[in-house]
Amino acid sequence: MIRVKKSYPEVFNEKVNPRSEMVNGTLLTDQHGKCYLCERVTTTDYEVEHRMARKDYEELKCEWSNLLLACSYCNRKKGNRYNDIINPLLINVEDKLKQEIDFGNKQMVFSIVGNNSSPELCATIRLLEELFNGKNGLRKIREERFFEYALRKLKEFQSVVVNYIKEPSDEHANEVRVLLDIKEEFLGLKYWIIKTNPMLEREFGEDIIWNKVR
Ligand SMILES: [Zn+2]
Repeated sequence: MIRVKKSYPEVFNEKVNPRSEMVNGTLLTDQHGKCYLCERVTTTDYEVEHRMARKDYEELKCEWSNLLLACSYCNRKKGNRYNDIINPLLINVEDKLKQEIDFGNKQMVFSIVGNNSSPELCATIRLLEELFNGKNGLRKIREERFFEYALRKLKEFQSVVVNYIKEPSDEHANEVRVLLDIKEEFLGLKYWIIKTNPMLEREFGEDIIWNKVR
């Protein structure tokens, strides 16, 4: 999960129609078709998600700043149980949350960076853990399929990174860069592969700043 940048077209006053083509289209363009939670590219399974659930926050139902693009998998799991996650439009999520892959134990590991614990960060970790690792660490078939897909993509990334480490040529660097493009999936997890290796951070530090406000 990384920071999300949305445009605020003038035609959008405070209240918008979440079902309108304009809102759907703008969210798809702004988020490059990706779910803001799991960062998968959606095809037809995208949904306009209310970060603060409309069931609990009726007044935010049509508020542009409360609408984000999510996939149906994440939207359903989030429901109205995670109204208190961090606002990815305002926070550099990738700096606040360490997002790592435990290839051996087949788990994604999310933790808070430094001593900046907050209820919002804790709620975000709980949600991400549920999405990637299943409820209470147990994956059912759907969760397993989701996880296997993520793992496959991240293994692909890991292998181009290893190629670069073994032979840091321009060609290999370019292969890493392609997979760090804003249109690519699972950037939060990829960023931390880069950030935890000084050699990689030196080379790709400027490629892991999408949407970020410095
Ligand atoms: Zn998702």
